[in-house]
Amino acid sequence: MSVFSRLWQFFKNLLNPATVKEHVARVFARKRPEEKIDSALPKVPESYVSPPAPTVVRQYEEHPSEAYMKLKYRFRDIGRMGAIAETLGRDFLTAMPEGAWKARLGQIAFLNRRMHEDLTDPAVKHLLDRAKTHAENHAEDWDKWDHANLREMDEMHGHQSPVSGDLIEKRAQLSYEGRRRHRDALKNSDWPSARGFLADMVDMNRQIAEVKCRATGSNSHYQALMSEYMPGISVMEVEDWFGTINKSLNKMLPKILEKQEEEEEPLPIKDFYPAKAQMWLNHALLEAIGFDFNRGGLFETGHNPVEGGTPDDTRLVIKNVDINDFMDSMKSALHEGGHGVYIQGLPRKTWRYQPIAQDMGAAVHESQALLVEMIIGRTKPFFDFLAPRAEGLFHGLHNPMLSADNLHKVKTRVQPSAVRKKADEVTYFFHMQHRFELERDLIEGKLKPADLPEAWNAKMQDIIGIQPKGVVDGCLQDVHWFTGKFGYFPSYTVGHMLAAQLYEKINKDVPDLDNLVAKGDFMPVTKWLGKNIHSKGRLLCFGDLVKNATGAALSPAPLLKHLEGRYLHA
Ligand SMILES: [Zn+2]
Repeated sequence: MSVFSRLWQFFKNLLNPATVKEHVARVFARKRPEEKIDSALPKVPESYVSPPAPTVVRQYEEHPSEAYMKLKYRFRDIGRMGAIAETLGRDFLTAMPEGAWKARLGQIAFLNRRMHEDLTDPAVKHLLDRAKTHAENHAEDWDKWDHANLREMDEMHGHQSPVSGDLIEKRAQLSYEGRRRHRDALKNSDWPSARGFLADMVDMNRQIAEVKCRATGSNSHYQALMSEYMPGISVMEVEDWFGTINKSLNKMLPKILEKQEEEEEPLPIKDFYPAKAQMWLNHALLEAIGFDFNRGGLFETGHNPVEGGTPDDTRLVIKNVDINDFMDSMKSALHEGGHGVYIQGLPRKTWRYQPIAQDMGAAVHESQALLVEMIIGRTKPFFDFLAPRAEGLFHGLHNPMLSADNLHKVKTRVQPSAVRKKADEVTYFFHMQHRFELERDLIEGKLKPADLPEAWNAKMQDIIGIQPKGVVDGCLQDVHWFTGKFGYFPSYTVGHMLAAQLYEKINKDVPDLDNLVAKGDFMPVTKWLGKNIHSKGRLLCFGDLVKNATGAALSPAPLLKHLEGRYLHA
């Protein structure tokens, strides 16, 4: 080849982008050889490993039990998949374009099936047995956190193993589909279309309960489902607590209503409250209670309120604000905020995706939400803090409607209603009793889903003394059963009991609490909860967590004292 043709070739190559790319790649490959990158990776026993952040200690900490180490990696990866599914789920409710919903259901269902496969793999049972033997023979190598982590691994494996992958996949799919179904049925007051879906949901949950009962030798389908939300609490205990609470409230309610009759009625707060200003207030309140917006967010959507995500990415969803009533979205934001602060306070820095770093289930979760929304968020000092800010924000300086006294009166007014979301703090417990009895009958096969509207109305009349106007105010009002949550409702009552018991103790431990709340200083409460509840993850069982935090076993007494104090003796 002549010098001229070689030069021609060189310039031709320079003009060809593919050749240039190849050349650049060769140069970079020389600078960053593959072998060096490989040898720089940390030596860990499983694939898909990212180097641990310096603060993530316990998840990666070496342990003499090889089986336990393998389990830690296995559960970390299951936890990671769970976090991905959570993020997809939050996106489903907030940002996803409508047209993507079917594909998204498939993605969420697939991830849940994969998690189930990884969790119920026979290798896990083998590793659990080996790790348990190690713990028995080498107690000195296991501290209380490792012990509890292993116990929770075993629990998760035990809970999911009897259930088939098909059922898990179906449940994940239907639970998200149910949110859409419920939204549409509610919009169109459409019981006939909801009926078939609800019947499928009941049927699927009965199947899950059936296999769980077979595996545990239990004969209560409802208990099998309720235990998923409230581990460590029996249906008998719940019945007992409901009995005590409702008996007292049935005596208290006429006295409360009589007392209210003698007082001046609060001024209705219906006015125009711009959505942006409401959301600004909600953000500010959540910041004040310690929600970290650097690791989470608050969104308004057409869906029902829900909390979720992970401690690093906690997403709170509330329903689109009502521009005529700012206290409606504020109530939701405070409730979800309580959930959110709990999620963010879990021991993520040390245990990250390990089972021990999870929350304690629905009763404790709801206690955190209700403590903020119902207990603190309805005290007079809270409205002393809120009122001047609301007056400024909504341009209502010295407007008697926005005075602390009036806002407090509005939020503590007792008025039986057919709608749970409109219910006051006292009659809310009757709604829980109503749902608890109905869902128990649905799951135990004593009530057919097709007969629900009549059964709903009859029981509502019996327990609350009110007839709903139609299905929208009746059996379609709640999203829970549409998402497959059977056995969840009692957790509101149990959570409320716990919230009252916790607040009683916080009042003893934090001096001058009312004054702090009146100044908007909620952090002493959040720190107390962080230390005694949030940071514990699943270290303790429910009973021990309550005893350690409050000094006593869970009881309805503090709740009844709180209700009496607020509604009869204030
Ligand atoms: Zn909640």
